[in-house]
Amino acid sequence: MGGKNMFINHEEIYKLLEEGKNSSKEEVVDILKKAREKRGISHKDIATLLQLDDKELLDEMFKVAGEIKESIYGKRVVLFAPLYISDYCVNNCVYCGYKKCNSFKRRKLTQNEIREEVKILEKMGHKRLALELGEDPVNAPIDYVLESLDTIYKTQGKDGEIRRVNVNIAATTVENYRKLKAANIGTYILFQETYHKPTYELMHPNSLKSSYEYHLTAFDRAMEAKIDDVGGGVLFGLADPKFEVLALMMHNEHLEKEFGVGFHTISVPRLKPAEGVTLEKFPNLLSDEMFKKVVAIIRIAVPFTGIIMSTRETADIRRQALKFGVTQVSSGSSTGVGGYKSREQGESVEQFKTSDERTPIEVLNWLLDEGYIPSYCTACYRKGRTGETFMGLAKTGEIQTMCEPNALMTLMEYVLDYGDEDTCKKAENIIYKEAEKINNPNIKKFITEGIVKLKEGQRDLYI
Ligand code: SF4
Ligand code: SF4
Repeated sequence: MGGKNMFINHEEIYKLLEEGKNSSKEEVVDILKKAREKRGISHKDIATLLQLDDKELLDEMFKVAGEIKESIYGKRVVLFAPLYISDYCVNNCVYCGYKKCNSFKRRKLTQNEIREEVKILEKMGHKRLALELGEDPVNAPIDYVLESLDTIYKTQGKDGEIRRVNVNIAATTVENYRKLKAANIGTYILFQETYHKPTYELMHPNSLKSSYEYHLTAFDRAMEAKIDDVGGGVLFGLADPKFEVLALMMHNEHLEKEFGVGFHTISVPRLKPAEGVTLEKFPNLLSDEMFKKVVAIIRIAVPFTGIIMSTRETADIRRQALKFGVTQVSSGSSTGVGGYKSREQGESVEQFKTSDERTPIEVLNWLLDEGYIPSYCTACYRKGRTGETFMGLAKTGEIQTMCEPNALMTLMEYVLDYGDEDTCKKAENIIYKEAEKINNPNIKKFITEGIVKLKEGQRDLYI
């Protein structure tokens, strides 16, 4: 395989997966020992873990992934919500409800409608959005995306404010990425969907998305345009998940080598039924067990990269995955255009079916009860801690001294603004308990004084 997709070397992946089948118990134990050092592991080691099916060793692997997660991210879980603004799409991706051949009345939100959706999201307490839309250069061109971003950032009021908008738009040109960068996006998110070229071509017939290479090199163009915060992902269920995990790692290493920084986050969506999409056609669907294994192996392989799980997954899978890998979850999501407003009013066409229908406050209470610290932090991007700077702080562990107080402050702010008395009490107890554990006197002071300031009405305290 030549050309620009050299960095996803298919032959090499097949070979690694074969070799991974022949590892001894001792080798696996050694790999897990290495993994504990949190410096990642080799492709061969990843392949070995992907081929592992010994129950005892798998349990040990989940334990190691959990320890890595806890030592880097503590109990924090970052929350966000998606915002779908247009379901116009010129592509025909076999697995997607927005595909062109699905006939339904398409729509895109006007700026006024976006304002209404944002206000509803702010009323739910959200601070961080993922902007989503189909690909249609005529009906939803880059200027529409830029205008919408401006509208979102400017829609602030008594119910709150959106402080970070991550953007998931189709692969595009360096010029367009420059415009996105200038519009203050958080992370630029783009899923490769599948790294397996023959499957990719089968899934993306005759459309703008048909070129595997153009899609694969989107982050190279984004980085060239100085977007240094990118989030990758795979739609698990299209091709062999073991192939996808190794390919994700190769993509990450390519970005690290060329631009000094790899994925800020990796998303792990799993194929779900949608309008015109039934699952029988897909031979590579993942069992829950395989899916959990994938999440744990990604955590071990790239300890400092966030893992995002959406409401595609049930509350139970999300609960389990949080233990050994996932660091960000969405809550209260609607995956339809104008879906937050129309949720009460009737039907909207969703890009895919969600499985966790709980409201944000229910998710927050659940996380607190499970011992987590829900975080609405958006500090890094606003402080310019992105790209290589961010990874430097993450790899030395220094970032934790910021994540923890910021998580506690945003949690306090959230419960004061959106929680009832019980939630407030529960959260405040946890916040004081966590503050007690912090050794740095300045940070402790920042938290205890911050609680008072928030109660007096100040907002948006972060370091
Ligand atoms: Fe369009 Fe994206 Fe759906 Fe493909 S996955 S049909 S590009 S919205
Ligand atoms: Fe994320 Fe930075 Fe906030 Fe930590 S301090 S939670 S890395 S935005």
